[in-house]
Amino acid sequence: MKALLQKQRDAFVAEGFVSAETRVDRLDRAISLLHDNRDTIADALDQDFGNRSRHQTLMELYATLESLKHAKKRVRRWMKQDKRKVPLPLALVGAKARVEYQPKGVVGILGTWNFPINTTFSPLAGVLAAGNRVMIKFSEVSPATATLMAGLVASTFDETEVACVSGGPEVGAAFSSLPFDHLCFTGSATVGKHVMRAAAENLTPVTLELGGKSPVIIARDSDLEDAAVRIMTGKALNSGQACLGPDYIMVAEDQLEDFIAHATKWTGEMFPTLLDNVDCCSVINERHLRRLRSYVEEAVSAGADVREINPAGEDFGPQEGAYKMPFTFVVNAGEDLKIMQEEIFGPLLVIKTYEHLEECTAYINSHPRPLGLYIFSRDEATQRHLLDRTVSGGACINDVMVHASIEDLPFGGVGSSGIGHYRGFNGFKTFSHARAVYKQSKLNLQRLSGMVPPYGERADKVLARIIRK
Ligand code: NAD
Repeated sequence: MKALLQKQRDAFVAEGFVSAETRVDRLDRAISLLHDNRDTIADALDQDFGNRSRHQTLMELYATLESLKHAKKRVRRWMKQDKRKVPLPLALVGAKARVEYQPKGVVGILGTWNFPINTTFSPLAGVLAAGNRVMIKFSEVSPATATLMAGLVASTFDETEVACVSGGPEVGAAFSSLPFDHLCFTGSATVGKHVMRAAAENLTPVTLELGGKSPVIIARDSDLEDAAVRIMTGKALNSGQACLGPDYIMVAEDQLEDFIAHATKWTGEMFPTLLDNVDCCSVINERHLRRLRSYVEEAVSAGADVREINPAGEDFGPQEGAYKMPFTFVVNAGEDLKIMQEEIFGPLLVIKTYEHLEECTAYINSHPRPLGLYIFSRDEATQRHLLDRTVSGGACINDVMVHASIEDLPFGGVGSSGIGHYRGFNGFKTFSHARAVYKQSKLNLQRLSGMVPPYGERADKVLARIIRK
């Protein structure tokens, strides 16, 4: 990996200015790679998950292609030098200032298994638009996709442009200790800390795209049925294995049963059956199935109110090649339970009831800052109130997760849900160095005004004139 990084860095230095044509060409090749191989990619993901909805994989590809196409269309505009104001009297004598967005050099991207294409190729849009070279490590938890993508990347790009490395946590650890010019990590907060520690040794700047428990607040005035439909539709994506998936819902006490009824009805309509239903995504592997089941078992044995949505009354015992489990609500469980503390990342949802809306903001503010925050209310004052009293990576009003599909919005967390952001122009800026360039005028004003040693009366006068409140 070290040798590869050196090769990429040498090529970067030899290239000098990275033209818009080169950047567009690289983006184009990434676009074709995803577009032309969409069926094989869908097959690989299906193999990794045991069952990954083909439609959901195509949605992942669509979202990622949008990132690449958005960057391709705008890269020329983004690259334009950004003129800045020079103060008087320097401006009068022709001094000029500008910001030039310069590629950082070689960027490392570490991706996850849940959306292996999106967590690597969506940042790639900003990385390539900014003119960088890049090394990508796909997650070992989705090996078929990782192998396929490594092959596709190798046949599409020279290894000095875009290269893939494969392996598990040890490779990840070695990868993140390479002296990259920027490291973009998507994954858990636990691993994110290791990555940031390793990057600190090289003073490599990091973008950390982490997860956490994203809350939903359903205000009393909301359209409860619409809220239930939108929340469960979002939760159904990848069976809740999404960083932005709703993790816990806060609903008024007196609306709890209505909410559950609407959510159960809609989930049954989306998935009349689960086990043989190709639309219902499997949990990624046995380890995660065991983890999720243990949350439910712990809640049941603690006497929590657990409601399973199993429309066809199927038996979720041993399954062949897949690890499905029904969507399940855990209502008003004790705070000490695992499901209340850990990111769920699966088809389970916590529901907490409230009497007063203030209880929701108090609860959210007493927990780590979430990646997403979802507000259901028809009242603008309530929406404003909830936005002003919480901090989260992003927020969505009257829906869940959709904000992340808007290319023109920055995508990223805050606090323990992440550091920095990418997407659109924000991605271009993240992976560029904003270099300040100042061009001096022919006249040496400093010397002419006596602002050079030996300082004397003229310098005193100038300073007395310019130092003002
Ligand atoms: P993970 O942290 O286990 O792994 C992420 C990547 O880090 C993998 O490529 C893995 O091989 C690598 N890795 C493992 N140990 C490492 C180490 N010690 N040093 C360096 N790299 C190491 O995450 P995951 O299980 O693949 O994904 C789930 C998590 O990712 C969830 O917390 C989820 O919320 C988060 N996520 C965030 C986003 C986002 O955009 N914010 C998107 C998807 C997933």
